[in-house]
Amino acid sequence: MDSGRCELIVVGDEILLGQTLDSNSRYIARRLTDNGMRLHWISVVPDDKDEIKTALDRATGRASAVIITGGLGPTADDFTRPVIAGFFADNLVWRQDLADAILARFEKRAIRPSPGWETMAYFPSRAAAIPNAHGAAPGIHYNYVRDHKGATAVVTPVADSLQSVAIEPVFREAGRQLFALPGVPVEMRGMFEDYILPRLIAARKGVFKSRIFKTVGAGETHLAACIGDPAVLAPATLAFLPSLDQGVTLRLSCSGDDVNLVHPVLEKGSAIIRTAIQSYIYATEEIPLEAVIIDILRYRGWKAAFAESCTGGMISARLTSIPGASDVFERCFVTYSNQAKVELLGVAPDIIENYGAVSEQCARAMAEGACQQAKVDIAISVTGIAGPGGGTVEKPVGLVYIGVADRGGSKVKRFTFAGDRDDNRRRAALAALTMLYRKCINA
Ligand code: ATP
Ligand code: MG
Repeated sequence: MDSGRCELIVVGDEILLGQTLDSNSRYIARRLTDNGMRLHWISVVPDDKDEIKTALDRATGRASAVIITGGLGPTADDFTRPVIAGFFADNLVWRQDLADAILARFEKRAIRPSPGWETMAYFPSRAAAIPNAHGAAPGIHYNYVRDHKGATAVVTPVADSLQSVAIEPVFREAGRQLFALPGVPVEMRGMFEDYILPRLIAARKGVFKSRIFKTVGAGETHLAACIGDPAVLAPATLAFLPSLDQGVTLRLSCSGDDVNLVHPVLEKGSAIIRTAIQSYIYATEEIPLEAVIIDILRYRGWKAAFAESCTGGMISARLTSIPGASDVFERCFVTYSNQAKVELLGVAPDIIENYGAVSEQCARAMAEGACQQAKVDIAISVTGIAGPGGGTVEKPVGLVYIGVADRGGSKVKRFTFAGDRDDNRRRAALAALTMLYRKCINA
């Protein structure tokens, strides 16, 4: 198989009715891109036999790999299995091994089999079953060819891998592949990762390699300006992937016939990127900022505390999501009211009276207070107006002050974010972690 052209068919009324956001497409598209392939076409079709068949006919005619998600369950609106079997002129036959696996799954969870479970054990006779670790319905894998008139035929039954995942045999066939997966995201993802992706990667032509640079403290426009004309990186390409929680990730990718050609291109490109944006890079692997911060704090032997107002505990939630946070995290003061800022952090009531709770002075007093009260080496404070209400001309929605205090003194930065409440809070948490990170590495 040449995994050159991949198409996705998403089946489900719920998506066309606006009840469910189609996250499956995003996931699959992203994972293909991550692995040097791309999705060429996405069709979203209703739970309707004719519509599914039309989409199948079009996709199988022009793609070498077709993935279809949704409609594999046992309910009356799930048509994908019979429609696919019909499309390949195949029959659904009782598969005792699948029935056993489905029943064993219910038994393990000590629940009665759901009505109609038997439907899922009627399986296309010439397809392989894709194991489903998170649900009952197995996926379907067909290996097929199209003749010059566009007629479709199944080449051979592919090696059935319900028991053992054998990747190789599939690719000795010159056929194209069709994979059908359930719509439930956790099931779809597991089967895509364990079964489909390894096969597509094995069939990918040439090599594809990439390097990532995770950055904080600068937006993509600034990073792009620092790097200059991306043509200097050619034949590698550079993608900017901004995230509200993790800053901007840059991915430098290059494909070619041979790793010996690709490697030097990436080395040269990485050196250019490092020189241009070194001070913003916090990782060159998939690791969250909070994990990097914990490592540095641990290395320094420091304990940290937070004083959070508008972020309401988000910063400490992020830090404590990483195993081992207890080595470095002491406590968080969620001081939402003025009274809490006074009582728990010792902020002078005069400061709040004269400058307001959202002020440089208050942020500074909060950080210093947290540092003293918690007896830590470093403390971060956040106070701001997340919105949508509460803004004024002098203090608009999105205004946030972030303070950092250690034994050597304190410093406050002013930010004006322009998002909605959720955006502003997440950006504030990221800015606070960024300040903590900076302080830790520059100490
Ligand atoms: P089931 O056994 O649950 O019926 P299924 O394979 O028939 O599984 P669907 O009925 O199409 O799958 O979808 C089940 C649920 O999965 C939907 O209610 C929806 O919440 C979710 N889902 C389906 N398709 C998508 C999608 N493209 N993106 C995100 N969620 C989806
Ligand atoms: Mg269903």
